[in-house]
Amino acid sequence: MNRSAQPDFAVLGGGLCGRLVAWRLAGEGHRVALYERGDAAGSQAAAWVAAAMLAPLAEAASAELLITRLGASSLETWPQILTELPEPVFFQRNGTFVLWHHADRTEAPLFERRVRSNAPTDLLEGGFVKLAGAQVGETEPALAGRFNQGWLLPHEGQLDNRQVLSALAAGLAQRGVETHWNTPVDDNALPPARITIDCRGLGAKPVLPMLRGIRGEVARVHAPGIRLMRPVRFLHPRYPLYIAPKQDDLYVIGATEVEGEDMSPVSVRSALELLSAAFSVHPGFGEARILELNSQCRPTLPDHRPALLWDGAQTLRVNGLYRHGYMIMPEVADEAVRFAAALLDGRVGDANAFADWQHHARWSELFKLDRAQEPA
Ligand SMILES: Cc1cc2nc3c(=O)[nH]c(=O)nc-3n(C[C@H](O)[C@H](O)[C@H](O)COP(=O)(O)OP(=O)(O)OC[C@H]3O[C@@H](n4cnc5c(N)ncnc54)[C@H](O)[C@@H]3O)c2cc1C
Repeated sequence: MNRSAQPDFAVLGGGLCGRLVAWRLAGEGHRVALYERGDAAGSQAAAWVAAAMLAPLAEAASAELLITRLGASSLETWPQILTELPEPVFFQRNGTFVLWHHADRTEAPLFERRVRSNAPTDLLEGGFVKLAGAQVGETEPALAGRFNQGWLLPHEGQLDNRQVLSALAAGLAQRGVETHWNTPVDDNALPPARITIDCRGLGAKPVLPMLRGIRGEVARVHAPGIRLMRPVRFLHPRYPLYIAPKQDDLYVIGATEVEGEDMSPVSVRSALELLSAAFSVHPGFGEARILELNSQCRPTLPDHRPALLWDGAQTLRVNGLYRHGYMIMPEVADEAVRFAAALLDGRVGDANAFADWQHHARWSELFKLDRAQEPA
């Protein structure tokens, strides 16, 4: 372990990515400092607003195979991460329920076709169960008699985003990470470290101009008595929506997806759409109490893929988690930590070594699998 004056790594940004990467690096014995412009709770991060669904199959309706593969392996890794954190985190693996109103039934085959073409075949096996009639209510009693068709994607999961952020903050303290909360980092005055790891999400835009934000708006409501047992995705031509039940009758209802980096409060139109759609899934939401209406922007690269970018000198950037940060972060962190360690001990010293490393990286294995499933 290096005990010189400067830390091995300065991690910029303490949202989901920065916290997990810093915690993992510290777990491997490195000296790490973390700088976050917001508070220890994480309230400045996209990760604070997210629903934190871990739903690679449901996301296959709009995500490519690489993302669904990263999501599937990350889903297996989350329980191990959570057992190592010093605070409990709500984690559930009850699946995702997909449903639609009869008037929007043409959405169902479209969704199914997209999922089947983007999801890995092994994930589809037993992972996509059609339900009809009484089966709907037997699986999700809150919906009995309201919907007579749906799909259960039984292997999917979710967790509580704010508990993860809090448990990671506690984990950083436990592992001796030097944390600097409420400390914005200026690109012209980077903190001292042998290697800088930039995990600032959209905050890295000044140095990653191709990064863009995709705004999402959510409502958090308290709705005792409804008792949904798993996240519900509601297919609709204009207002596709999810309702993710957390602990203690808390529901996250989301999310809009609008191009742009508008961080202003939730619009009346979006609030009406989200809340009306929830009310149409279960009238009990009419009596729910609105705890919060919130918006944030998902950090997104042009190909909608996560990226590890090395500047060839001192800085590694981990970004582009888009709408899949929670779903894929364990895999992304794994790769980032491997690469950061290789940078520190000089195994990756120049552009050729970086290309070589990338060629052998785990992601490239996933890319190969990705290509193997593509139609010829
Ligand atoms: C509405 C919504 C719903 C979502 N739902 C899901 C979901 O269900 N499942 C899922 O997998 N993902 C979901 N996501 C996506 C997920 O939240 C993001 O992919 C993830 O948060 C990205 O992590 P990040 O650490 O890169 O960025 P962030 O979480 O935004 O963290 C970046 C951090 O960097 C800090 N920072 C920025 N600039 C500076 C600076 N100059 N100095 C110091 N610190 C700085 C910020 O304060 C912030 O804390 C959702 C996102 C939104 C907005």
